[in-house]
Amino acid sequence: KLYNQVQDLKGSIRVYCRVRPFLSAQPIYSSTVDNIEDGTITIGVPSKNGKGRRSFNFNKVFGPAASQAEVFFDMQPLIRSVLDGYNVCIFAYGQTGSGKTYTMTGPKEITEKSQGVNYRALSDLFLTADQRRDTFCYDVNSYRGLSVPDACLVPVSSTRDVIELMNLGQRNRAVGATALNDRSSRSHSCLTVHVQGRDLTSGTILRGCMHLVDLAGSERVDKSEATGDRLKEAQHINKSLSALGDVIASLAQKNQHVPYRNSKLTQLLQDSLGGQAKTLMFVHISPEVDAIGETISTLKFAERVG
Ligand code: ADP
Ligand code: MG
Repeated sequence: KLYNQVQDLKGSIRVYCRVRPFLSAQPIYSSTVDNIEDGTITIGVPSKNGKGRRSFNFNKVFGPAASQAEVFFDMQPLIRSVLDGYNVCIFAYGQTGSGKTYTMTGPKEITEKSQGVNYRALSDLFLTADQRRDTFCYDVNSYRGLSVPDACLVPVSSTRDVIELMNLGQRNRAVGATALNDRSSRSHSCLTVHVQGRDLTSGTILRGCMHLVDLAGSERVDKSEATGDRLKEAQHINKSLSALGDVIASLAQKNQHVPYRNSKLTQLLQDSLGGQAKTLMFVHISPEVDAIGETISTLKFAERVG
């Protein structure tokens, strides 16, 4: 069954959506999410004559009650396909505070239950590689960082090695204070895993690569009241996110020309996007009414790339 699912994903673009739960302990909430059913999410949009509704369709929508384990379970076949020699890119997209880092890494204090995709993916790759040791010999290398010129490739043999590497990357990551969230990450963060597997009977070598990307916040510039360098940085981020959207949308439409060269992000990931590669765009939204503008633009972005 899992194998078939992997085959179905071949060369495809999938789009998932996750809604963050409310965080504060206030008793009464009004969510902009009216309904979630299979792959459809319906948003209540405030308008002059009451409330309008708008639905968006994706491959999967996770509601606020979805656990980290549930989310990972769905992504597992895609991640495991790296061991079969596929290239996989997983992007977490959304405004600051919508839960991108929660999905990819976890909350501030990470417990076994709240571990994000990074940890679960690495553990699963090591476990699966070990289960296949009678037929395959695997080498796993990993590194953190995307635009860092001196990013280095480090051989890793356990999830612990990877966690240490990720913590190092996290310390190096540029974090700027914005009005929205003072821990806001104004940079993309990427965990890359290279896998080489040798089939012990035939000697065939398989090479796969996985990029797990926690993208910088997608909010529009004016909202974070940025000026000067902050403003330039925000504009640069927005440009790279829309370039990423353009690339994925043109891959989804199977266009002849794919505009990889419009940003550094897409240039760096060119070999891992398109062709036989598998891409998952995982968008995140906040349920609060005051986030409605960003929520709608995130869902429209997602709708366009799918
Ligand atoms: P982003 O990386 O998009 O800026 P975060 O992942 O930092 O957002 O999430 C913002 C806050 O919400 C954090 O305190 C995080 O732990 C919490 N959070 C996000 N998603 C969830 C979730 N699904 N369940 C519980 N808490 C969440
Ligand atoms: Mg974050």
